[in-house]
Amino acid sequence: MFGRAPKKSDNTKYYEILGVPNTASQDDLKKAYRKAAIKNHPDKGGDPEKFKELAQAYEVLSDPEKREIYDQYGEDALKEGMGGGGAHVDPFDIFSSFFGSSFGGGGGSSRGRRQRRGEDVVHPLKVSLEDLYNGTSKKLSLSRNVICSKCKGKGSKSGASMRCPGCQGSGMKVTIRQLGPSMIQQMQQPCNECKGTGESIKEKDRCPGCKGDKVVQEKKVLEVHVEKGMQHNQKITFPGEADEAPDTVTGDIVFVLQQKDHSKFKRKGDDLFYEHTLSLTEALCGFQFVLTHLDNRQLLIKSNPGEVVKPDQFKVINDEGMPMYQRPFMKGKVYIHFTVEFPDSLEPEQCKALEAVLPPKPTSKLTDMELDECEETTLHDVNNIEEEMRRKQAHAAQEAYEEDDEMPGGAQRVQCAQQ
Ligand SMILES: [Zn+2]
Ligand SMILES: [Zn+2]
Repeated sequence: MFGRAPKKSDNTKYYEILGVPNTASQDDLKKAYRKAAIKNHPDKGGDPEKFKELAQAYEVLSDPEKREIYDQYGEDALKEGMGGGGAHVDPFDIFSSFFGSSFGGGGGSSRGRRQRRGEDVVHPLKVSLEDLYNGTSKKLSLSRNVICSKCKGKGSKSGASMRCPGCQGSGMKVTIRQLGPSMIQQMQQPCNECKGTGESIKEKDRCPGCKGDKVVQEKKVLEVHVEKGMQHNQKITFPGEADEAPDTVTGDIVFVLQQKDHSKFKRKGDDLFYEHTLSLTEALCGFQFVLTHLDNRQLLIKSNPGEVVKPDQFKVINDEGMPMYQRPFMKGKVYIHFTVEFPDSLEPEQCKALEAVLPPKPTSKLTDMELDECEETTLHDVNNIEEEMRRKQAHAAQEAYEEDDEMPGGAQRVQCAQQ
């Protein structure tokens, strides 16, 4: 991206840096990197260049996808493929992801000089289930800051800048607050006059392109490829496409897929769930119906002769579910959940007709004497049993909470109960 001198492409350098053969396992790589990184950590007096090289090599080889590209085409292919992302390795970030940030005790002075990494920009991207089934691409227009080309990010015509008078060039301002008679609080904040850069540019010398801001806004169209089988919340990253800023490694633009609800299908992993309601007659005597799939194919769904479908029963169609990500020829299943609609009531003649064909009722003749000893009851309708039970539980919990309130340590018990 930044016109580097062309280099001989090879695919052994990273292995040599880590001192492992190119057949090394992930475990071998980890061990090799750990040993070498500790030895070369700048906070422990190691060589910063070597430390950076190690991180770069490990970052690539520890990622199976990048490693494959590197093995086949070498380092340069990797940089092109990632839009310059190959140069965006922060050795300290890799190191701390490995060991935690505690190493080096209080972040040694060598850290201060490293380049800042710009923030990633995250956008949610709404997609339909059809998009995830069939794959699609979406063009999105975004505006971003880029380094001003007129001044190459200097902000001035002459390239000169002065130390910011507000912070004496440190970029930070220290404010002291008196909290009490013998207590003061010292706070460091980025300088508001220079936005933390520590420099200021004379009014007359300001670059006409960016008015001294060093960056200008640019519209950019990104084409996001949504691949078959991608998941809700899956990220699609455009490395180094976020806002540019001077002396900063540009962050990534990250799209996070957000699947919209579908009116017919629900997705669970690679499987799809479909709701279908049968009439009682269909459930007993057979059915067929057409299911329109996510690619508009019409699937004929029918029962086997003589088969009875019971309420809440599931049936499954193999290989008609979601395509698997990066293996789109493999597909999950479609589960059909059947609801059976019973008639609300029947006429006496209908009952007779049904009794004639259905299996007989269980015979449990009660004698008049036995009946005399029974008490009469009334059956009422229950509309929604779950709802009714939930209400009762909530009521009980509320009562328990109110009781606990009056007891010491009550709050703690409620917390446990809610977990
Ligand atoms: Zn300042
Ligand atoms: Zn400029």
